[in-house]
Amino acid sequence: MTVLKIAPSQEPAVDLSLTYDAVVVGSGAAGGMAAHVLTSQGMKVLLLEAGKKIDINQELRSMEWPYDHPRRGEMAPGSHAIRHNEYTIRQPPYAKKTAFKHVYSYVGGWGGSDYVKNILVDEKDHPYTGTRYAWVRARLLGGKTNIWGRLALRLSDYDFKGKTHDGYGEDWPISYADLAPYYDKVDLYLGISGYKENLPHLPDSLFQRHNKLTASELMLRKGVAKMGRTVTPYRAGVTTDGVKNKYRSKCFGRGACGRRPGGCDIHAAFDSPTGLIYPAMDTGNLTLRTNSIAHEVLVDRNTGKARGVSFVDSQNHRTYEAKAKIVILAASTLESARLLLLSKSRQYPNGIGNSSGHVGHNFCEHVMGPGATGLVKDLVGRESTLDDGRPGGFYVPRFRNLQDKQPGFIRGYGFEGSGGFGIFPDGAFDAPGFGGQFKKTVREHAGAFISMGGFGEVLPRYENYMDLDPVVKDRWGIPVLRFHYQFSDNEKKMCEDMAASAREMLEQAGVEVIGVDRDILTEGWSIHELGTARMGTDPKTSVLNQFQQSHDVRNLLVVDGSSHVSASCQNPTWTIMALAWRSCEHLADEFKRGNV
Ligand SMILES: Cc1cc2nc3c(=O)[nH]c(=O)nc-3n(C[C@H](O)[C@H](O)[C@H](O)COP(=O)(O)OP(=O)(O)OC[C@H]3O[C@@H](n4cnc5c(N)ncnc54)[C@H](O)[C@@H]3O)c2cc1C
Ligand code: SF4
Repeated sequence: MTVLKIAPSQEPAVDLSLTYDAVVVGSGAAGGMAAHVLTSQGMKVLLLEAGKKIDINQELRSMEWPYDHPRRGEMAPGSHAIRHNEYTIRQPPYAKKTAFKHVYSYVGGWGGSDYVKNILVDEKDHPYTGTRYAWVRARLLGGKTNIWGRLALRLSDYDFKGKTHDGYGEDWPISYADLAPYYDKVDLYLGISGYKENLPHLPDSLFQRHNKLTASELMLRKGVAKMGRTVTPYRAGVTTDGVKNKYRSKCFGRGACGRRPGGCDIHAAFDSPTGLIYPAMDTGNLTLRTNSIAHEVLVDRNTGKARGVSFVDSQNHRTYEAKAKIVILAASTLESARLLLLSKSRQYPNGIGNSSGHVGHNFCEHVMGPGATGLVKDLVGRESTLDDGRPGGFYVPRFRNLQDKQPGFIRGYGFEGSGGFGIFPDGAFDAPGFGGQFKKTVREHAGAFISMGGFGEVLPRYENYMDLDPVVKDRWGIPVLRFHYQFSDNEKKMCEDMAASAREMLEQAGVEVIGVDRDILTEGWSIHELGTARMGTDPKTSVLNQFQQSHDVRNLLVVDGSSHVSASCQNPTWTIMALAWRSCEHLADEFKRGNV
């Protein structure tokens, strides 16, 4: 098997005496997309990334078998991954007063993952304070896209026009028709696999070949169809038929992306460096500076416009200035809010772009935890098959509060799940027995389990917010975020329904239910943080306009999930990229006309 090893073209040297057309902060899904769109329109862009550029293929070691690793993939002694109970019982900063040399978020699994030790931030260097929150951060070129779960979904007008539908919150300043052409562009440029279902609440993408459902998943699909619900193959941000991009290959179906937080060393799964940044470098218009932690948007005293970004070099701790005609923040939802709040000046005493006082507020995400596991008795004892040689299992789209009205809660949730054989037989934990008999039971039952877990919409509320901690700073002396955030009754009621409906669906499909999870995971668990600088038409109650442009500062944009008005229950990354594409295309037009 040939693993792609094409180096990106030589990038132009960083020249901080230049004034670039645009400076983009952050190189994940949002920043990568901004760099791609602007450079393809001929603009000269400087991309500042706080993390390193690492040899990601060497880091991921996608083809390594568990037994080839000295600790079966677990982190070295001295490192610690924060456990569920720590998040639940303690308050952040979670790495405070710990004896461990390195502390990471939960996402690598309880033993931590050796494959992400250089991808996730060390919580010791990057503390945060306030209410409990499981914050997962990846600081490197490409950000979280290096290890994301690949579920790539569109939003619909049930989401964009949520207020019109049920009266809560605010409608987005755009509708599905505005964004659909940009979802199409993202699909075609990056590749997405999936199966058309023609659902009004989960619009289809321009799909490439879909993954096959396993025997138990097909059984579930058939069973729940009678309830008017859908089990569809995982809509994966993965190219299964290939795309025109020399840095990426089509999917070989090895399932390595499903190992802990996965990643894909042939880049069939989308990641920002190979999907967006390296092709942008090939235009000759992109300059990249890694190890560059932006901490302030600089302002022209005369015009009040943004004039660049001040950043700290993470290695030598020196401060530099990058000058640009346009500043684009794409540091991820919470980090972009932090940057806006950090950028205080005479003109903007509450932080830049914050005349509304809404920066850091209206935070939303997805609530997780409830779900169910079942056993398909007919599949016990069958010969093993290669079920996990694919980039994902199945997805159950939202079915609540569409035509119906649930008594206890508004909005909805979807389920991610999978059934069949996997490299590690997850069901082993539920199998009875001891010694040889236990091993036999695990082998016989390994392919017969099916499980699913919910992702529910968390309502945006002004009272859920983040501000700057007045005392605590990170390793580079930059004030950290302080959380003031918790789930409301709506999320709690929704989770009760999630657990009940997961059970109900398995039963309806004739699957024996062997476990139902009812507990809600700590805030932040979904890694789908959104809001904090929402778009809107009213500058008094929103931060950005429909093109993610600051109401207060015309040449300042925030193109990541912080602009989202509500969370919907669909995973956000495809929407983040479609929105960034739309905004940056508009920006390039305005720039050419001299309107910015
Ligand atoms: C394990 C995992 C599974 C996931 N699964 C899914 C999924 O299935 N579907 C889905 O839609 N989403 C999923 N996500 C979420 C997805 O990764 C994010 O939605 C997406 O990466 C957001 O893009 P972003 O550009 O806003 O942020 P990021 O990808 O986090 O990129 C932000 C970048 O900005 C940099 N940065 C931060 N602060 C600064 C600063 N001050 N100066 C300079 N640079 C800075 C960071 O280092 C980073 O590189 C998952 C995430 C993880 C970790
Ligand atoms: S299944 Fe496809 S996307 Fe996942 S690691 Fe293998 S090649 Fe990459």
